[in-house]
Amino acid sequence: MAQKSVPFFNYSGIYTQNRNEFIKIFDEVCSRGAFILQRDVEELERNLAEFIGVKHVITVANGTDGLIIALRAAGLKPGDEVIMPSHTYVATAASVHLLGGVPVLVECGADHMVDPVAMEKAITPKTKFLMPVQVNGRTCNMDAIMGLAKKHNLKVVEDAAQALGSKFKGKSAGTFGVAAMYSFYPAKLLGCFGDGGALVTNDDAVAREMKLWRDHGRDEKGEVAGWGMNSRLDNVQAALLNFKLQNFPKEIERRREIAKMYQTELGSLSQITLPPAPGTGDHFDVYQNYELEADRRDELKNSLKENGIGTIIQWAGKAVHQLTALKLQRSLPVTEKMTARFLMLPMHQLLTDDDVQYVCTHIRKFYGQ
Ligand SMILES: *Cc1c(COP(=O)(O)O)cnc(C)c1O
Repeated sequence: MAQKSVPFFNYSGIYTQNRNEFIKIFDEVCSRGAFILQRDVEELERNLAEFIGVKHVITVANGTDGLIIALRAAGLKPGDEVIMPSHTYVATAASVHLLGGVPVLVECGADHMVDPVAMEKAITPKTKFLMPVQVNGRTCNMDAIMGLAKKHNLKVVEDAAQALGSKFKGKSAGTFGVAAMYSFYPAKLLGCFGDGGALVTNDDAVAREMKLWRDHGRDEKGEVAGWGMNSRLDNVQAALLNFKLQNFPKEIERRREIAKMYQTELGSLSQITLPPAPGTGDHFDVYQNYELEADRRDELKNSLKENGIGTIIQWAGKAVHQLTALKLQRSLPVTEKMTARFLMLPMHQLLTDDDVQYVCTHIRKFYGQ
């Protein structure tokens, strides 16, 4: 097989794919002088609300700000404990910490999603929130998590940074709890050309609070109704995202096709454990990432690299409780075992069938198949 290059992600390709349209949009928006909170932001918020099936969308400057604003609007107070998986990005825990809350890190289950049983075990009188992370483009079993929340009188804020378009039992990630965040970081499912994010809620009061928080506490009349911050999504990013959103359902379909190919080509290898296949059970997965578990993980990664294939170990191979500088250490053997085996294969809408075959051939070869 001829050597080729299959990078993990194609940042410039995302731009060059529709370069002329993007230049036109940039030029049109800038010529209008529409830079901050203009009609493109409103249009994006409306379009996203329709796509997700939620009442309110409030765009923000980035997902991390979004989590802080969402937790604050949902009523997080200093000292409140928030239960979340340790297999997540540091931002999930940081948003709680920065508000004076306490992130409580728990195990994940076989599908890499937070384990509801571990969540329940971690509940104390100080617990106020459950914070499921819809990681890798999959939505958690939200029946279990919402059941726990009801039983113990807790609020749910979802970190749906990686899950725009994902569903559980036909309901979109982000629409189960009080509020949720999606990220538009360039490598996310719907990426912009820099940082960006969005908050969603069906609660009018929470929506109002989040909207105030992202713009210095200013209301519709421009009067300061309370404390706030500056976390507005650039209007030009909103205009570019409006364009990208049109093709987004097709991109999700492509990701699901690629996941199916990986499943077909690699499903029989005993040395690796694949993520759930598309179309299984109650989950509609959109494959933000294709994260598998592999024997001899580091050797496999190197071997693929030698063959021009880019892979990534998510979050540099560390769950949040393993980030020693944050002092959140605890014993989470299931997560630790998985973290040592996790590897993400190339997964994005620009991959060709040949690219995917090339990756699979080299993985099979590595394991002597
Ligand atoms: C990307 C991500 C975030 C943070 O989003 P930003 O837009 O980069 O601030 C938070 N949580 C998870 C799970 C993420 O993947």
